[in-house]
Amino acid sequence: MTTRTADIEKAAAVLRDGGLVALPTETVYGLGADAENPAALARVFRAKGRPPSHPLIVHIAGAERLGDWVREVPATARLLAARFWPGPLTLVLRRGGRVSPAATGGLETVAVRVPDHPVALALLSAFGGGVAAPSANRFGAVSPTTADHVRAELGDAVDFVLDGGPCLVGVESTIVDATGDVPSILRPGGVTREDLEAVLGRSLEVDSTGRTPVPGRHPSHYAPRARVILVGPENVVAEAELAQESGQRVGVLVPSSRAGAPVKAHTVMAVPESPAAYARGLYGILREFDRRGCDVVVVSLPADEGLGLAIANRLRRAAGPRPSR
Ligand code: AMP
Ligand code: MG
Repeated sequence: MTTRTADIEKAAAVLRDGGLVALPTETVYGLGADAENPAALARVFRAKGRPPSHPLIVHIAGAERLGDWVREVPATARLLAARFWPGPLTLVLRRGGRVSPAATGGLETVAVRVPDHPVALALLSAFGGGVAAPSANRFGAVSPTTADHVRAELGDAVDFVLDGGPCLVGVESTIVDATGDVPSILRPGGVTREDLEAVLGRSLEVDSTGRTPVPGRHPSHYAPRARVILVGPENVVAEAELAQESGQRVGVLVPSSRAGAPVKAHTVMAVPESPAAYARGLYGILREFDRRGCDVVVVSLPADEGLGLAIANRLRRAAGPRPSR
Protein backbone atom coordinates (compact mmCIF):
# COMPACT_ATOMS: atom_id res chain seq x y z
CA MET A 1 0.00 0.00 0.00
CA THR A 2 1.62 3.23 -1.06
CA THR A 3 0.25 6.52 0.17
CA ARG A 4 1.53 9.42 -1.86
CA THR A 5 3.16 12.49 -0.35
CA ALA A 6 0.38 14.50 -1.98
CA ASP A 7 -2.20 12.59 0.10
CA ILE A 8 -0.29 13.29 3.31
CA GLU A 9 -0.08 17.01 2.44
CA LYS A 10 -3.79 17.10 1.61
CA ALA A 11 -4.69 15.35 4.88
CA ALA A 12 -2.51 17.77 6.88
CA ALA A 13 -4.24 20.71 5.16
CA VAL A 14 -7.66 19.25 6.01
CA LEU A 15 -6.61 19.03 9.68
CA ARG A 16 -5.35 22.63 9.64
CA ASP A 17 -8.71 23.74 8.22
CA GLY A 18 -10.57 22.06 11.09
CA GLY A 19 -11.60 19.03 9.04
CA LEU A 20 -11.72 15.33 9.86
CA VAL A 21 -9.21 12.80 8.52
CA ALA A 22 -9.49 9.04 8.88
CA LEU A 23 -5.97 7.74 9.43
CA PRO A 24 -4.48 4.26 9.50
CA THR A 25 -2.64 3.18 12.64
CA GLU A 26 -1.24 -0.21 13.61
CA THR A 27 -4.22 -0.79 15.94
CA VAL A 28 -7.39 0.37 14.14
CA TYR A 29 -8.30 3.32 11.89
CA GLY A 30 -8.71 6.59 13.77
CA LEU A 31 -11.02 9.53 13.11
CA GLY A 32 -8.62 12.43 13.57
CA ALA A 33 -8.97 16.15 14.24
CA ASP A 34 -6.64 18.93 15.42
CA ALA A 35 -6.31 18.35 19.18
CA GLU A 36 -6.23 22.13 19.72
CA ASN A 37 -9.38 22.95 17.74
CA PRO A 38 -12.62 22.63 19.79
CA ALA A 39 -14.91 23.01 16.74
CA ALA A 40 -13.11 20.23 14.87
CA LEU A 41 -13.26 18.02 17.96
CA ALA A 42 -16.99 18.62 18.28
CA ARG A 43 -17.35 17.27 14.74
CA VAL A 44 -15.55 14.05 15.75
CA PHE A 45 -18.11 13.40 18.48
CA ARG A 46 -21.01 14.19 16.10
CA ALA A 47 -19.65 11.95 13.33
CA LYS A 48 -19.31 9.02 15.75
CA GLY A 49 -22.48 9.65 17.71
CA ARG A 50 -20.21 9.58 20.75
CA PRO A 51 -21.07 11.39 24.01
CA PRO A 52 -18.69 14.39 24.40
CA SER A 53 -17.80 13.21 27.91
CA HIS A 54 -15.77 10.33 26.44
CA PRO A 55 -12.18 11.48 25.92
CA LEU A 56 -10.11 10.91 22.77
CA ILE A 57 -6.50 9.82 22.38
CA VAL A 58 -4.04 12.52 21.30
CA HIS A 59 -1.63 11.12 18.71
CA ILE A 60 1.81 12.71 18.47
CA ALA A 61 4.82 12.23 16.17
CA GLY A 62 7.36 11.19 18.79
CA ALA A 63 8.03 10.67 22.50
CA GLU A 64 10.19 13.84 22.56
CA ARG A 65 6.98 15.87 22.04
CA LEU A 66 5.19 14.35 25.05
CA GLY A 67 6.17 17.24 27.31
CA ASP A 68 4.18 19.65 25.07
CA TRP A 69 0.91 17.93 25.92
CA VAL A 70 1.14 16.97 29.59
CA ARG A 71 1.89 18.85 32.80
CA GLU A 72 4.67 16.48 33.85
CA VAL A 73 6.23 13.26 32.62
CA PRO A 74 6.69 10.89 35.58
CA ALA A 75 9.57 8.38 35.47
CA THR A 76 7.21 5.47 34.81
CA ALA A 77 5.72 7.21 31.78
CA ARG A 78 9.17 8.06 30.47
CA LEU A 79 10.22 4.42 30.77
CA LEU A 80 7.11 3.07 29.05
CA ALA A 81 7.28 5.64 26.25
CA ALA A 82 10.96 4.85 25.64
CA ARG A 83 10.25 1.13 25.45
CA PHE A 84 6.89 0.96 23.63
CA TRP A 85 6.63 4.03 21.37
CA PRO A 86 5.91 4.08 18.55
CA GLY A 87 3.42 1.35 19.42
CA PRO A 88 -0.01 0.31 20.71
CA LEU A 89 0.37 1.84 24.17
CA THR A 90 -1.58 4.90 25.35
CA LEU A 91 -0.43 6.78 28.44
CA VAL A 92 -2.91 8.73 30.57
CA LEU A 93 -1.19 11.69 32.24
CA ARG A 94 -2.10 15.06 33.74
CA ARG A 95 -3.06 17.30 30.89
CA GLY A 96 -1.06 20.32 29.79
CA GLY A 97 -2.55 23.63 28.72
CA ARG A 98 -2.19 22.95 25.01
CA VAL A 99 -4.73 20.20 24.64
CA SER A 100 -8.34 21.33 24.21
CA PRO A 101 -10.68 20.22 27.04
CA ALA A 102 -12.98 19.07 24.24
CA ALA A 103 -10.48 16.26 23.55
CA THR A 104 -10.31 15.12 27.17
CA GLY A 105 -14.02 15.09 27.91
CA GLY A 106 -13.36 17.83 30.45
CA LEU A 107 -11.01 15.58 32.45
CA GLU A 108 -7.80 16.89 33.98
CA THR A 109 -5.95 14.00 32.36
CA VAL A 110 -5.07 13.38 28.74
CA ALA A 111 -4.42 10.16 26.83
CA VAL A 112 -1.40 10.29 24.49
CA ARG A 113 0.32 7.88 22.15
CA VAL A 114 2.74 7.62 19.22
CA PRO A 115 1.25 5.25 16.61
CA ASP A 116 3.51 2.71 14.88
CA HIS A 117 2.37 3.27 11.31
CA PRO A 118 4.40 5.04 8.59
CA VAL A 119 1.35 6.86 7.18
CA ALA A 120 0.17 8.08 10.59
CA LEU A 121 3.68 9.22 11.47
CA ALA A 122 4.08 11.02 8.14
CA LEU A 123 0.78 12.79 8.70
CA LEU A 124 1.69 13.78 12.27
CA SER A 125 5.03 15.18 11.08
CA ALA A 126 3.47 17.09 8.17
CA PHE A 127 0.70 18.47 10.41
CA GLY A 128 3.07 19.35 13.24
CA GLY A 129 0.48 19.31 16.03
CA GLY A 130 -1.41 16.63 17.91
CA VAL A 131 -4.22 14.66 16.31
CA ALA A 132 -7.02 13.64 18.65
CA ALA A 133 -8.63 10.47 17.38
CA PRO A 134 -10.98 7.80 18.61
CA SER A 135 -11.64 4.75 16.43
CA ALA A 136 -13.30 5.69 13.12
CA ASN A 137 -16.60 3.92 13.69
CA ARG A 138 -20.04 4.73 15.08
CA PHE A 139 -20.04 4.76 18.90
CA GLY A 140 -20.43 1.25 20.30
CA ALA A 141 -19.86 -0.54 17.00
CA VAL A 142 -17.00 -2.71 15.71
CA SER A 143 -13.76 -0.77 15.09
CA PRO A 144 -12.52 -0.40 11.49
CA THR A 145 -9.33 -2.17 10.42
CA THR A 146 -9.43 -1.18 6.73
CA ALA A 147 -10.10 2.10 4.90
CA ASP A 148 -13.16 0.46 3.30
CA HIS A 149 -14.66 -0.18 6.74
CA VAL A 150 -14.33 3.55 7.48
CA ARG A 151 -15.86 4.64 4.16
CA ALA A 152 -18.76 2.21 4.53
CA GLU A 153 -19.59 3.32 8.07
CA LEU A 154 -18.82 7.04 8.21
CA GLY A 155 -19.06 8.04 4.52
CA ASP A 156 -19.38 11.80 4.03
CA ALA A 157 -18.88 12.55 7.74
CA VAL A 158 -15.12 12.24 7.05
CA ASP A 159 -13.42 14.88 4.88
CA PHE A 160 -10.50 12.70 3.82
CA VAL A 161 -9.63 9.02 4.22
CA LEU A 162 -5.94 8.08 4.18
CA ASP A 163 -5.64 4.46 3.07
CA GLY A 164 -2.70 2.71 4.73
CA GLY A 165 -3.83 -0.86 4.13
CA PRO A 166 -5.18 -3.28 6.75
CA CYS A 167 -4.15 -2.67 10.39
CA LEU A 168 -1.48 -5.11 11.58
CA VAL A 169 -2.35 -5.25 15.30
CA GLY A 170 -6.12 -5.12 14.86
CA VAL A 171 -7.23 -4.30 18.41
CA GLU A 172 -6.99 -0.91 20.12
CA SER A 173 -4.07 0.29 22.19
CA THR A 174 -3.47 -0.71 25.80
CA ILE A 175 -4.35 2.29 27.98
CA VAL A 176 -2.18 2.75 31.09
CA ASP A 177 -2.97 5.28 33.78
CA ALA A 178 0.47 6.66 34.63
CA THR A 179 -0.70 9.66 36.68
CA GLY A 180 -0.03 8.15 40.11
CA ASP A 181 2.73 6.18 41.79
CA VAL A 182 1.11 2.88 40.87
CA PRO A 183 0.29 2.50 37.16
CA SER A 184 -2.74 0.46 36.16
CA ILE A 185 -4.25 -0.83 32.93
CA LEU A 186 -7.48 0.99 32.04
CA ARG A 187 -8.01 -1.00 28.86
CA PRO A 188 -6.10 -4.09 27.71
CA GLY A 189 -4.85 -3.85 24.12
CA GLY A 190 -2.01 -4.35 21.67
CA VAL A 191 0.80 -4.22 24.26
CA THR A 192 0.41 -7.19 26.60
CA ARG A 193 0.21 -6.95 30.35
CA GLU A 194 3.15 -9.35 30.56
CA ASP A 195 5.35 -7.08 28.42
CA LEU A 196 4.44 -4.04 30.54
CA GLU A 197 5.14 -5.94 33.74
CA ALA A 198 8.52 -7.12 32.46
CA VAL A 199 9.58 -3.53 31.73
CA LEU A 200 8.21 -2.10 34.98
CA GLY A 201 9.42 -4.97 37.13
CA ARG A 202 6.11 -5.13 38.98
CA SER A 203 2.66 -6.62 38.50
CA LEU A 204 -0.12 -4.47 37.06
CA GLU A 205 -3.79 -4.38 37.95
CA VAL A 206 -6.41 -4.17 35.24
CA ASP A 207 -8.40 -1.30 36.75
CA SER A 208 -12.15 -1.85 36.66
CA THR A 209 -13.25 0.72 39.22
CA GLY A 210 -14.66 3.02 36.55
CA ARG A 211 -12.84 6.03 38.01
CA THR A 212 -12.37 7.45 34.53
CA PRO A 213 -14.95 7.13 31.77
CA VAL A 214 -13.62 4.56 29.33
CA PRO A 215 -16.08 3.62 26.60
CA GLY A 216 -14.61 0.12 26.52
CA ARG A 217 -16.22 -0.35 29.94
CA HIS A 218 -19.74 0.34 28.74
CA PRO A 219 -21.91 -2.75 28.90
CA SER A 220 -22.08 -2.82 25.10
CA HIS A 221 -19.13 -1.76 22.93
CA TYR A 222 -17.18 -3.17 19.99
CA ALA A 223 -20.45 -4.87 19.03
CA PRO A 224 -21.57 -6.25 15.66
CA ARG A 225 -25.25 -6.15 14.66
CA ALA A 226 -25.58 -9.87 15.40
CA ARG A 227 -26.11 -10.83 19.03
CA VAL A 228 -22.94 -12.34 20.52
CA ILE A 229 -23.25 -15.47 22.70
CA LEU A 230 -20.25 -16.52 24.79
CA VAL A 231 -19.88 -20.17 25.78
CA GLY A 232 -17.05 -22.47 26.87
CA PRO A 233 -14.90 -23.85 24.03
CA GLU A 234 -16.34 -27.34 24.48
CA ASN A 235 -19.90 -26.03 23.99
CA VAL A 236 -19.43 -23.81 20.94
CA VAL A 237 -20.57 -26.37 18.35
CA ALA A 238 -23.55 -27.67 20.35
CA GLU A 239 -24.76 -24.15 21.19
CA ALA A 240 -24.44 -23.05 17.56
CA GLU A 241 -26.40 -26.04 16.26
CA LEU A 242 -29.11 -25.54 18.88
CA ALA A 243 -29.55 -21.88 17.89
CA GLN A 244 -29.53 -22.81 14.19
CA GLU A 245 -32.25 -25.44 14.81
CA SER A 246 -34.38 -22.79 16.53
CA GLY A 247 -34.52 -20.95 13.20
CA GLN A 248 -31.84 -18.31 13.73
CA ARG A 249 -29.05 -17.63 11.26
CA VAL A 250 -26.00 -18.62 13.27
CA GLY A 251 -22.41 -17.57 12.81
CA VAL A 252 -19.90 -19.63 14.74
CA LEU A 253 -16.23 -19.07 15.45
CA VAL A 254 -14.87 -22.55 15.98
CA PRO A 255 -11.84 -22.97 18.27
CA SER A 256 -8.87 -24.80 16.76
CA SER A 257 -9.49 -27.76 19.10
CA ARG A 258 -12.72 -28.35 17.14
CA ALA A 259 -11.48 -27.35 13.69
CA GLY A 260 -12.38 -29.69 10.86
CA ALA A 261 -15.56 -31.08 12.45
CA PRO A 262 -18.65 -30.28 10.34
CA VAL A 263 -20.97 -27.77 12.04
CA LYS A 264 -24.61 -27.15 11.13
CA ALA A 265 -24.68 -23.37 11.10
CA HIS A 266 -25.19 -20.55 8.61
CA THR A 267 -21.59 -19.25 8.67
CA VAL A 268 -18.67 -21.17 10.11
CA MET A 269 -15.28 -19.52 10.65
CA ALA A 270 -12.21 -20.78 12.48
CA VAL A 271 -10.36 -18.97 15.25
CA PRO A 272 -7.07 -17.79 13.66
CA GLU A 273 -4.03 -19.88 14.60
CA SER A 274 -1.93 -17.44 16.63
CA PRO A 275 -3.05 -14.82 19.17
CA ALA A 276 -1.58 -12.08 16.94
CA ALA A 277 -3.54 -13.35 13.92
CA TYR A 278 -6.69 -13.58 16.05
CA ALA A 279 -6.32 -9.97 17.23
CA ARG A 280 -5.60 -8.81 13.68
CA GLY A 281 -8.62 -10.66 12.29
CA LEU A 282 -11.14 -10.22 15.12
CA TYR A 283 -13.05 -7.14 13.92
CA GLY A 284 -13.02 -8.31 10.29
CA ILE A 285 -14.52 -11.62 11.40
CA LEU A 286 -17.30 -9.88 13.38
CA ARG A 287 -18.04 -7.67 10.36
CA GLU A 288 -18.14 -10.72 8.09
CA PHE A 289 -20.79 -12.39 10.28
CA ASP A 290 -22.88 -9.21 9.91
CA ARG A 291 -22.27 -9.04 6.16
CA ARG A 292 -23.58 -12.59 5.82
CA GLY A 293 -26.72 -11.65 7.74
CA CYS A 294 -26.16 -13.71 10.90
CA ASP A 295 -28.64 -13.11 13.75
CA VAL A 296 -26.32 -14.49 16.40
CA VAL A 297 -22.63 -15.26 16.73
CA VAL A 298 -21.45 -18.08 19.00
CA VAL A 299 -17.88 -17.82 20.26
CA SER A 300 -15.72 -18.81 23.23
CA LEU A 301 -13.28 -16.56 25.09
CA PRO A 302 -9.53 -17.05 24.79
CA ALA A 303 -7.52 -17.26 28.02
CA ASP A 304 -6.80 -13.91 29.71
CA GLU A 305 -3.10 -13.95 28.86
CA GLY A 306 -0.99 -12.18 26.23
CA LEU A 307 -3.16 -10.71 23.48
CA GLY A 308 -5.96 -13.01 24.70
CA LEU A 309 -6.66 -10.46 27.47
CA ALA A 310 -7.55 -7.78 24.89
CA ILE A 311 -9.46 -10.18 22.63
CA ALA A 312 -11.51 -11.52 25.56
CA ASN A 313 -12.18 -7.95 26.75
CA ARG A 314 -13.58 -6.98 23.31
CA LEU A 315 -15.68 -10.15 23.03
CA ARG A 316 -17.16 -9.63 26.51
CA ARG A 317 -18.15 -6.06 25.55
CA ALA A 318 -19.50 -7.21 22.20
CA ALA A 319 -21.72 -9.65 24.13
CA GLY A 320 -22.81 -7.02 26.67
CA PRO A 321 -26.44 -5.98 27.11
CA ARG A 322 -27.54 -3.45 24.49
CA PRO A 323 -29.54 -0.36 25.26
CA SER A 324 -31.03 0.63 21.90
CA ARG A 325 -29.38 -1.16 19.04
P1 AMP B 1 -11.69 4.74 21.41
O1 AMP B 1 -10.53 3.82 21.22
O2 AMP B 1 -12.41 5.02 20.15
O3 AMP B 1 -12.69 4.25 22.42
O4 AMP B 1 -11.11 6.12 21.97
C1 AMP B 1 -10.12 6.43 22.86
C2 AMP B 1 -10.01 5.71 24.18
O5 AMP B 1 -9.13 6.39 25.05
C3 AMP B 1 -11.30 5.59 24.94
O6 AMP B 1 -11.41 4.29 25.48
C4 AMP B 1 -11.17 6.64 26.01
O7 AMP B 1 -11.97 6.49 27.12
C5 AMP B 1 -9.70 6.54 26.34
N1 AMP B 1 -9.22 7.75 27.00
C6 AMP B 1 -8.95 8.92 26.42
N2 AMP B 1 -8.58 9.84 27.33
C7 AMP B 1 -8.61 9.24 28.54
C8 AMP B 1 -8.33 9.68 29.87
N3 AMP B 1 -7.95 10.92 30.14
N4 AMP B 1 -8.48 8.78 30.86
C9 AMP B 1 -8.85 7.52 30.58
N5 AMP B 1 -9.14 7.04 29.34
C10 AMP B 1 -9.01 7.89 28.32
MG1 MG C 1 -13.70 2.97 19.80
